Amino acid sequence: MGEISLPFMRPYVDEETIAGVVDVLRSGWITTGPQNARFEAALSEYCGRLVRTFNSGTCTMEIALRIAGIGPGDEVITTPLSWVSTSNVICKVGATPVFVDIDPVTRNLDLDKIEPAITPYTRAIIPVHLAGMPIDLEQLYALAFTHRLRVVEDAAQALGSSWKGQRIGACGDFVSFSFHANKNITSIEGGALVMNHDAEVRLAEKYRLQGITRTGFDGMECDVLGGKYNLTDVAARVGLGSLAHLDEITAKRRALARAYFTYFADSTAIAAGIELPLADFTNSNWHMFQIVLPLEQLTINRATFMAQMKERHIETGAHYPPIHLFKLYRERGFHPGIFPCAERIGQAIVTLPLFPQMTLADVWRVVQAVNEIIRRHQK
Ligand SMILES: *Cc1c(COP(=O)(O)O)cnc(C)c1O
Repeated sequence: MGEISLPFMRPYVDEETIAGVVDVLRSGWITTGPQNARFEAALSEYCGRLVRTFNSGTCTMEIALRIAGIGPGDEVITTPLSWVSTSNVICKVGATPVFVDIDPVTRNLDLDKIEPAITPYTRAIIPVHLAGMPIDLEQLYALAFTHRLRVVEDAAQALGSSWKGQRIGACGDFVSFSFHANKNITSIEGGALVMNHDAEVRLAEKYRLQGITRTGFDGMECDVLGGKYNLTDVAARVGLGSLAHLDEITAKRRALARAYFTYFADSTAIAAGIELPLADFTNSNWHMFQIVLPLEQLTINRATFMAQMKERHIETGAHYPPIHLFKLYRERGFHPGIFPCAERIGQAIVTLPLFPQMTLADVWRVVQAVNEIIRRHQK
């Protein structure tokens, strides 16, 4: 059993979906068409709001910022602990990213630290529901309302999560999902934007395809500078097949996360100071199960820890290096020491395997491996 290699993520695509993709390929219409329309309708129904699809979760956020009219001279507040896409889109539209440190328990933006970062130029907040753990939506939207800020929720990891009984995507301002292969549901690559107004939807459709509007049989106008961000029907068919299993996938992930907590209880790793994620089994969709290593108690660094897990045929990930310490951002004036929580966690966090095809025995094996490595390398 120890020989079987355990990845940290694995896309779930069932046989019915594979057969559905073959049908799309044989249908004569393989790019954006009827499957995409079905996928948009299913997502709109799930969220109870207006949803349009795109070919990534990154362009989805960029387009939300463009719809909000955010650009040069504007500031957008976000977290330094996310996939770099979250803040790259702010730079991409010509606005200025303003980072605010994270809360070490939820690992999301620390909402209590946002107000001091607001200036007359602040136009929006991009919070991230990291690992599927939602940010406090009441506090977030109260802040946004008081300071008249737009919100683009980076919910790339949060489809299936909820906040106090309400699905992520069901309320709020812009909500952006990603269907990248590693997310809880996938269209291989893809994204979706949830909106409130028809006018926003019309603009989203323009930005998605060269800024054009068609009328009648031969009418065409181009009045905004759009791009090429449409989702193919092959991808949409994969997404539809995946979305059909969302509840099952979320339930399975929650059960596996619970097992991690049970198996880690009273372990060597906990005694050595490993930090587990917040034990939330109602809001989070458990997109990732991430531990923070007590590096000051160990004789090895994170890379060696990950290599030793790999020797035991267990793959792990490092999500994410703090964004403000990347060269592109250091060149914009950010430097080490300014966001101590994000820096400490970003440098010591490890993503353990968690995907719906995993078994409880797999979770047990991962926890034993962590304990063994920690025991061997404790100071
Ligand atoms: C995956 C991800 C994105 C980007 O989504 P893509 O579809 O890969 O462009 C953005 N933010 C977060 C937090 C993500 O996990």
